[in-house]
Amino acid sequence: MNVTTKVKPAAAVRPDLDPELNNLAMSKEAQPLFDAVKKHIEDNVAPMADEFFRLGEGRKDPWSWAPGQLELLEVAKNKAKASGLWNFFLPTSEIGRGLTNLDYAYIAAELGKQPLASESLNCSAPDTGNMEVLEKVGTPAQKEKWLKPLLNGEIRSAYAMTEPNVASSDAKNIGTRAELDGDDWVINGEKYYISGAGDPRCKIMICMVKTSPDASPQFQQSQILVPIDTPGVKILGPMHVFGHDHAPRGHMHLKFENARVPRENILLGEGRGFEISQVRLGPGRIHHCMRSIGAAEKHGEGHGARAGVPDHRPGDPDPRRHRHLAMDAARRDVRRPADPAPRRRPGRGPSHGGRPGRAEPALIHAGGSRFRALQR
Ligand SMILES: Cc1cc2nc3c(=O)[nH]c(=O)nc-3n(C[C@H](O)[C@H](O)[C@H](O)COP(=O)(O)OP(=O)(O)OC[C@H]3O[C@@H](n4cnc5c(N)ncnc54)[C@H](O)[C@@H]3O)c2cc1C
Repeated sequence: MNVTTKVKPAAAVRPDLDPELNNLAMSKEAQPLFDAVKKHIEDNVAPMADEFFRLGEGRKDPWSWAPGQLELLEVAKNKAKASGLWNFFLPTSEIGRGLTNLDYAYIAAELGKQPLASESLNCSAPDTGNMEVLEKVGTPAQKEKWLKPLLNGEIRSAYAMTEPNVASSDAKNIGTRAELDGDDWVINGEKYYISGAGDPRCKIMICMVKTSPDASPQFQQSQILVPIDTPGVKILGPMHVFGHDHAPRGHMHLKFENARVPRENILLGEGRGFEISQVRLGPGRIHHCMRSIGAAEKHGEGHGARAGVPDHRPGDPDPRRHRHLAMDAARRDVRRPADPAPRRRPGRGPSHGGRPGRAEPALIHAGGSRFRALQR
């Protein structure tokens, strides 16, 4: 009998069943850094945090730091520097550690558990995004003037994009104008929710401004360096988030009235604002969501401890179960787009400066929103 064996073509691996694609574990290479960061927080940050916040209570000027607060923080910063735990957020391996977004996501969750941890390691927003931008697109002079002191933890910075009266989640709507007058850009407009602009240590802002209204919408915006003490930059006051002004750093309402900065303060070039946003927004959102998840984990543990019940066990009919499940989902929602997986996106490098793919910012948002719902 003549039997012909039909050879089935190899089935394409379903991405959801491929264990490699679903591997969202931290890499072995990142483990020592992760452990060292945890130890630094336990040994050098947590023990001084209560004293830091106690010193700040009842200070006369809420928009200043109380004597002794920054000195305590400097001690922790110096210890981090001495142990090489400094600026590791930067994706370049020359200054940072060349971490992948996924590895950084695990570390960011630890940073979110202790409010002073990020700054003690010079890994706090919005400086991280600003340093990354300056490092990638800054001129040698811009780097010397602003990146150097930021990398040394000597000054702080802000990022000013959001505006009253326009839906700023779509940056095409940004209307603050910057117009060339001789060798200066003259800036007019209003920004609000500008985090950290109330901090007396904040010296520089990266501002999204409209320089080219006649270009196509994606090329109308530019990003420009504006020292916060520029004449014409006014802090109108703090915004409130759930009733808090978060002094002394704050989320400030700013007005620019004929604020002049030199022509060379523009970053990368006129009309290239959106290009720069791609550098900072993808990784920045992942870091932010993971820090928030870390904060939620810490608060969840606190609730359990106060209620006198152990942490959730699978199958437990515990009322906190829903929150645990949703937190697991939120973690996954953020870790998945954090995975640089060259295997999933050929051609992308492993560094966490790599941009997430097109669909991924939406995933990160979804993870973040799920998480925000948990916080209520
Ligand atoms: C604590 C805090 C800190 C912040 N720090 C900073 C900072 O440092 N720098 C900075 O620049 N900004 C900062 N922001 C502002 C933040 O980035 C903006 O709030 C955010 O980008 C959304 O912009 P928006 O507030 O204008 O909301 P909108 O853009 O008005 O959006 C509001 C809602 O409407 C939806 N929406 C908007 N347009 C449309 C549309 N066309 N169709 C359908 N739905 C739409 C949005 O998805 C959203 O759900 C901060 C905000 C907070 C709360």
